[in-house]
Amino acid sequence: MQISEGDGMEIIIFIGIQASGKSEFYKHKFYKTHVRLNLDMLKTRNREKILIEACLNAEQPFVIDNTNPKSEDRKRYVDLAKENECKVIGYYFESSINKSIERNKTREGKERLPDLAIRSTHSKLKLPTLEEGFDELYYVKIDEEDHNFIVEEVFKMINDKTKGAIYGVLIGDALGFPYEFNHKDLIPKWEDIEFTPPNYFKRTYPNIDPGTWSDDSAQTLCLLDSLVSCGKFDLKDFSERLLKWLNEGLWAVDNRVFDCGVQTFSSLRAYEKGMNERESGFISPNGKGNGALMRVMPIAVFHHINGGEKDQIIRDSHEQCLITHGHVCNQVCCALYSLWAKYILEDVEIKQAYNRAVSYLKGYYLKNSLGDYSYELDNIILEGNFSGGGYVVDSIRSVRYVLFKYEDYESVVKGAISLGNDTDTTAAIAGGLAGAYYGFSNIPQRFIDGLRGKELLNVFKL
Ligand SMILES: [Mg+2]
Repeated sequence: MQISEGDGMEIIIFIGIQASGKSEFYKHKFYKTHVRLNLDMLKTRNREKILIEACLNAEQPFVIDNTNPKSEDRKRYVDLAKENECKVIGYYFESSINKSIERNKTREGKERLPDLAIRSTHSKLKLPTLEEGFDELYYVKIDEEDHNFIVEEVFKMINDKTKGAIYGVLIGDALGFPYEFNHKDLIPKWEDIEFTPPNYFKRTYPNIDPGTWSDDSAQTLCLLDSLVSCGKFDLKDFSERLLKWLNEGLWAVDNRVFDCGVQTFSSLRAYEKGMNERESGFISPNGKGNGALMRVMPIAVFHHINGGEKDQIIRDSHEQCLITHGHVCNQVCCALYSLWAKYILEDVEIKQAYNRAVSYLKGYYLKNSLGDYSYELDNIILEGNFSGGGYVVDSIRSVRYVLFKYEDYESVVKGAISLGNDTDTTAAIAGGLAGAYYGFSNIPQRFIDGLRGKELLNVFKL
């Protein structure tokens, strides 16, 4: 299948579950210019092949209007486009099961599908990436108010806020880490808190170079890596990456592992010996350390970029705890943090974002009859004591305090470190939210320059 001149010829590939708006979008945008090829209509691959050949020979642009959930489904068309020197453009449609099922209910007769068909496609769905060979990739969603299509270039969604969220964690961790395990009275004065501590201060890990991130960031990057690779949260895949971090230094600067929490260590070792990934986080049944909270930021970032719903953010935030920190209290803290981050990424003011996260989460627990989760949430949100310690509720309260008090990234992370104790983790958790709120551009350049290992992030295009 070759055509002589491919100039200007383009192939459009739609990706998205049933009833996500694909055919409507075709009518709206491509009806006058592109032929529509749809396997449900054509029934056989042979007929599809004949029509594709005809379009290529005639240099007639066309749209492949199928669900194309897997990268293998897309590959056949991408390869064809490359072979024929055509431009290949992907449109990914927001694929929310609930919204699609609602839309499907308005269809009639044969048009209407069993819910199971939608769920089945969704379970196979893997988000498209530019690495698959697309020349351009767009994200399409339907505006809930006016029902118009909103189209954004996928690249552009990695913006100042999402980038700030990830760098915010890494820099907070690297800045706080030389001061870890010190009482607040021993922390250097504000202006002396830098990657390299002042001479009068005894560093916690004298053999680690300044600007190096610790376990908090390595695990955060394991989560980001897993989400991007799987196109969704997958506990097994994430657990494997955490184990690879512990054993081989995956996502650790210079592959050097240090500062691993006690509960994380024992849970991962239990998992390695064969314990199920959903159970290993319960080997210390009352373990309420902040080890799952410190790494959870990518859930909010990933779903924000990919149009995931808040309920999914909650479920994934809960689940990512299970491998090391199963206790419900940890799960609730992670869900609260992720929702707070999500509202911040949506440009909501920081205190309002927190309040909205609390009320959304309360509603979710009520709706799903999760009484034990509600009980934990009621306790977490109290105005209680905090000390920058390693107890997960203390962390949330410490972070809330510094985020409400200070008004730029540097002050937030320095404020977190000044609380003493678990300085790297408090600064990582607070830094993620401050980075999201104030943006990457508000992080001082000297911190970005001094961060070791940042070239590892190139793979995420961050
Ligand atoms: Mg650490």
